[in-house]
Amino acid sequence: NKALIYRDNKGVEWFYTVTPVDKRYYILTAIPRPLLPLRALLQNEFLRPLIQVGILAIIFAFFISWIMAKWIARPLQRVALSAKALAGGKYQRIPLEGPVEVRQLAETFNEMGHRVQVSAQSQRDFVANVSHELKTPLTSIQGFTQAILDGTVRTKEELLKAHKVILRETSRLHRLVDDLLTLARLEAGTADLQKTDIALNELLKNMADKFLLQAKKMGVELIEDFNGEAIIHADGDRLAQVFTNLIDNAIKYTEKGGCITLSTKLADGFVLVSVKDTGIGIPLKEHKRIFERFYQVDKSRKGGVGRGVGLGLSIAKQIILSHGGDIWVESTPNKGSNFVVKIPFQYIK
Ligand code: ADP
Repeated sequence: NKALIYRDNKGVEWFYTVTPVDKRYYILTAIPRPLLPLRALLQNEFLRPLIQVGILAIIFAFFISWIMAKWIARPLQRVALSAKALAGGKYQRIPLEGPVEVRQLAETFNEMGHRVQVSAQSQRDFVANVSHELKTPLTSIQGFTQAILDGTVRTKEELLKAHKVILRETSRLHRLVDDLLTLARLEAGTADLQKTDIALNELLKNMADKFLLQAKKMGVELIEDFNGEAIIHADGDRLAQVFTNLIDNAIKYTEKGGCITLSTKLADGFVLVSVKDTGIGIPLKEHKRIFERFYQVDKSRKGGVGRGVGLGLSIAKQIILSHGGDIWVESTPNKGSNFVVKIPFQYIK
């Protein structure tokens, strides 16, 4: 059934086939041979639209990738620029734009930037505070030494007074440097803690005895209320430092006629020690801040021989944290404060 070619008298070529139907009849099928060869046909009917669609697709792809680049690359570029600025000490918040992942990155970056800023600020504050605390006693020492040297201080009494001031201020400097060193070691985790098994109530009883006289002198009653004989694994000297600070503060911030209760109670693997006073109290917004280095609720309270510099509670906190415990305050202004220390115990006697 192969098609044959016939050229008519006009020169037109035909494809035709002849199929016999029976002995007398045939079916002749003929179509004019296409003028264009198949390749030309493909070129005209297929390739051109293909090329047109291709070009359109390329333009579309360019357009889409341009939009994508703007959508993803621009916020990423902002993150990069902000990171560079942060490295140079300037932090700017990045707006949250682009796809979810890029927005998350920007959000995380903003949080990191904020933390870096807070930490840098706290470092600057720390240096400023240390400098300030060093400057006051140094100025005093310098002034009195100068006065002795140039003969302004003449009499024996004046000389004695000058020496007393110098001794007091050097002691204060010594305490400050000691506290700073302790704090730095505790924060860095390099403090050498001498942990042994300690009967906590006994340690607290000794502390109370030590403060009995001071409390009496200030007209403050000291009450003991110990429940449960917990044995804890701790550095006794460091713990004594914590409770010295808490009881000392309680006496310092409680008016005559007030009372301080030192109590313990057991709770679920922990022992809770409470140093509760009926003193001036602490406003709610300061409850967290008083555990920060150099933070004092009332700066004007400064001055006087026994003044602190606001390091006591931050040291206490670091000591308690390094024993796997926690410390917090519950307080109402003008009613009193309750400092609670939570320490894990080894066993109960
Ligand atoms: P300071 O050397 O000033 O006593 P602390 O770190 O021991 O430093 O205490 C920080 C601040 O917390 C104090 O300046 C004081 O304002 C406040 N504070 C601490 N204990 C008490 C308390 N028992 N009652 C009221 N305020 C307190």
